[in-house]
Amino acid sequence: MNIILLGPPGSGKGTQARHLVETRNMVQLSTGDMLRDAKSSGSELGKKVAAVMARGDLVTDDIVIGLIGERLSQTTAGGFIFDGFPRTLAQADALDNLLKSQSHDLDAVIEMRVDDDALVSRITARSTCAKCGEVYNDITKPLPVDGKCVNCASDEFTRRADDNEDSLRQRLMEYYKKTSPIIGYYYAKGLLDQVDGLGAIYEVQWAISEVLDK
Ligand code: ADP
Ligand code: ZN
Repeated sequence: MNIILLGPPGSGKGTQARHLVETRNMVQLSTGDMLRDAKSSGSELGKKVAAVMARGDLVTDDIVIGLIGERLSQTTAGGFIFDGFPRTLAQADALDNLLKSQSHDLDAVIEMRVDDDALVSRITARSTCAKCGEVYNDITKPLPVDGKCVNCASDEFTRRADDNEDSLRQRLMEYYKKTSPIIGYYYAKGLLDQVDGLGAIYEVQWAISEVLDK
């Protein structure tokens, strides 16, 4: 089954996607991760997008559509989780065409609802394992007391360049201006489900499971 996780920055898409990868054998396609990988590899693409991302602006549709298109031909038993894509109506249309051309279907779009005040505190409290990408949060999922990642035992943690208040405000603005229209788009297609993203991580996991199993 192929699904989209939709929601503003900090709504928990990445955390939930990683759980679905572990429990349902799905493949996570995160355009944010792909762009950050490009940035840290120092590729031409990475250089092009670094400043745009740090400001909190969206990178151009053709770049992210290209990145997703390259990955969709891989086979997966559990299906794909689109995380952070699509983010514009043009990307949503492009995904539709890409899926059709590979004879894949879209089974569900899960909107993770959170209020904006919660986002600011979540994001400014966020850190990530430098080695495996496990996400921690000073409030909801603090760094392990022994200083070692629960997943890979690495002791190096990083904060994202765009996880500061100014970039976050811009990311939120981009979300409301450009991404939120796709909520209506998928509602009209009969694909939209909403979950409360404000609960504990396991509560959100349950809510998503319920949607996927129905
Ligand atoms: P978050 O959901 O926390 O904002 P992501 O990791 O999904 O974080 O994205 C980080 C940044 O990468 C975005 O602010 C944007 O600059 C860029 N980006 C990621 N996905 C897309 C996309 N589908 N379209 C355009 N830009 C994107
Ligand atoms: Zn780790």
